[in-house]
Amino acid sequence: MSDDVHEVYAVRYGHHERRSSENFIGGDPHDVPQPLDFFVWAIRGPHGTFVVDTGFDEAMARKRQRSILNPVGAGLKALGIEPDSVEDVIVSHLHYDHTGNYDLFPRARYHLQDFEMAYATGRHMCHAYPRLPFELDDVIAMVRKVFAGRVSFHDGASEVAPGISVHRIGGHSKGLQCVRVKTRRGFVVLASDSTHLYAHIEQGRVFPIVYSAGARRRRSGLPGRPHVGMTTRVRQLGEEANTFSPDRVAAVPLALFTLPPNPGFPGSAIMNWSTSKTSDVDRGGGSAASILRAAGVG
Ligand SMILES: [Zn+2]
Ligand SMILES: [Zn+2]
Repeated sequence: MSDDVHEVYAVRYGHHERRSSENFIGGDPHDVPQPLDFFVWAIRGPHGTFVVDTGFDEAMARKRQRSILNPVGAGLKALGIEPDSVEDVIVSHLHYDHTGNYDLFPRARYHLQDFEMAYATGRHMCHAYPRLPFELDDVIAMVRKVFAGRVSFHDGASEVAPGISVHRIGGHSKGLQCVRVKTRRGFVVLASDSTHLYAHIEQGRVFPIVYSAGARRRRSGLPGRPHVGMTTRVRQLGEEANTFSPDRVAAVPLALFTLPPNPGFPGSAIMNWSTSKTSDVDRGGGSAASILRAAGVG
């Protein structure tokens, strides 16, 4: 394995039954069941293990009326990852479902965008609507890590390790970042909440929790493309990856995939994006069982 090639795992830990009208500004004319799943991600490679987002715990699930399928720590342990030993955590943004379990990684350095910390601790939090997806304890826990010297701040596009980069997207939360990872099948874009469902990225529709639906900004992190919108940026990252090689990219929304239960790991699912064909994983269909086997847990 070369110096910059990694494996990417998705760990599904939570679930929320909801209707499609709840997933789009302006509702949805079909108004059908459209549940959301919750994931964290693990990236493994020559530079160690990187966990992307930390999810929420049982107490938060009760408070927010979500359900835990399997605790985040247990999901990572099923992959052979001991949370105690993780040294790097990339936090896409500070919403409750991405930055809970904040004591689970006592040795980790956290990677966060400047804008996200400023947003979560600044004037917008005086108002109920932008404050809604944040939890005070989560934000305070991150501030404590800042004071402990355990946060690496990023401003726009930044390389975390060879083959792993973060990219500020904004839109859904002011400092939301996605993660692009080089794998042996090409780049995988972990979109996080920059596109919850494929309908958001394909149809330009907007999830109801949003800082700015336009989300235009000056610094895309790439030369020659200075102004891009939220989902446009994620798509662009995917297209750039496609120039690396066709059929080698998956822009992976946080909450799209509904997989059959894994008998060895009830109620949860772990997928390895780096060894699966795009057609298997992009729609969550087809060969979930083989994906689970590829991850060594099926
Ligand atoms: Zn969010
Ligand atoms: Zn979220």
